[in-house]
Amino acid sequence: MEPFVYRDGRLFAEGVDLATVAEAVGTPFYCYSHGHLSAQAEGFDGAFGELPHLTCFSVKACSNLAILALMARRGLGFDIVSGGELARCLAAGADPTKIVYSGVGKSAAEMRQALEAGIRCFNVESPGELDLLDRVAGKLGVRAPVALRVNPDVDPQTHPYISTGLKENKFGISHREAVAEYRRAAAMANIDVVGVDCHIGSQLTTVQPFLDALDRLLALVERLGEAGVAVRHLDLGGGLGIRYDNEAPPTPAEYAGALVERIAPTGLTLILEPGRVLVGNGGCFVTRVLYTKGNEGKRFVIVDGGMNDLVRPALYGAYQEILPVAAHRSRPNRIVDVVGPICETGDFLARSRELPVVRPGELLAVMSAGAYGFSMASTYNTRPRVAEVMVRGDRYHVIRERETVASLMAGEQIPEGV
Ligand SMILES: *Cc1c(COP(=O)(O)O)cnc(C)c1O
Repeated sequence: MEPFVYRDGRLFAEGVDLATVAEAVGTPFYCYSHGHLSAQAEGFDGAFGELPHLTCFSVKACSNLAILALMARRGLGFDIVSGGELARCLAAGADPTKIVYSGVGKSAAEMRQALEAGIRCFNVESPGELDLLDRVAGKLGVRAPVALRVNPDVDPQTHPYISTGLKENKFGISHREAVAEYRRAAAMANIDVVGVDCHIGSQLTTVQPFLDALDRLLALVERLGEAGVAVRHLDLGGGLGIRYDNEAPPTPAEYAGALVERIAPTGLTLILEPGRVLVGNGGCFVTRVLYTKGNEGKRFVIVDGGMNDLVRPALYGAYQEILPVAAHRSRPNRIVDVVGPICETGDFLARSRELPVVRPGELLAVMSAGAYGFSMASTYNTRPRVAEVMVRGDRYHVIRERETVASLMAGEQIPEGV
């Protein structure tokens, strides 16, 4: 479904006018479409059909409890990268046996927490992590289910900050050293080797890098078999891209079709860790125009949302479409920079963007903001994090209240005589 469409010149989220939400909750805010998120979750998972598989939503893409609960109720599991994300999943009603735990820097306390919860698998990223996990599991008297995250050294052809599967990246264990490390893992008293894992990057717009990575992993599984190490699952990570501008990424059905063909004959269970593709286009970020001004021929639209609220444009130079919430056909277009109130030159939502003339007080919607939007927000400049709203049909729910300045200062202390 198309989550955000104009009706009589006004931008709606499903059946709700975004201007109505802005009046009620203030600006800026994130808005998600329940229908779109549900359709993406069911469509992605369903695309793998009868193949034994588990779709683990990558929590870091969008970690609001309401969204995690929506995913859990549709049978999805979760890919987490911290003890905090584990707590969120459990609070949202997740089945721990559908949780896989990735990340290069798991602490002993986080390992304990995950072992006690009974998660499905640790995606281990270094020999040191494997040693520590063995010790932590031993102390608890349990065995830790493990896949090693191998670095297949394939180029995902995406932005360098979100490419993770090249040999110079910090993630995983070199595929050349993997067999030796697996042998070591298999001999450990408190480790159960259950799978192989990789994640090569994010916002991939072709299937080929996934297939290259898959081939490397399947070759590894074969070598492991010869070495007497049996695995049950293959985790191919996340990374399937979405359309922000004019990209044409494969659909989940095309992606799944290509993978199923190769995995089915192996008898392995396939685990996937999609984030962006499930939520990216299901959310938008609504901000209000404060001022417009021109400096030396350059035009600025200054809005109340900044890089602390939505960092992708500032961090990656990412393009996200911007739409006026009220479309005025008679307005001419201008080339503008849409900038936030943060004291950083890098604080922009769009640069040199052609937009219809907007006036102070009017609303803009930054599209495709469902993934790595709110979840990457900070409180820089002492700006409380914004409200999140979920629309379902002609109703909406505030799924996270706007933070207050008081909540930001809570926990700070002024020592006597400072
Ligand atoms: C971020 C991440 C994902 C999700 O990536 P998307 O591009 O959002 O699909 C999956 N697995 C791991 C290990 C990650 O770090």
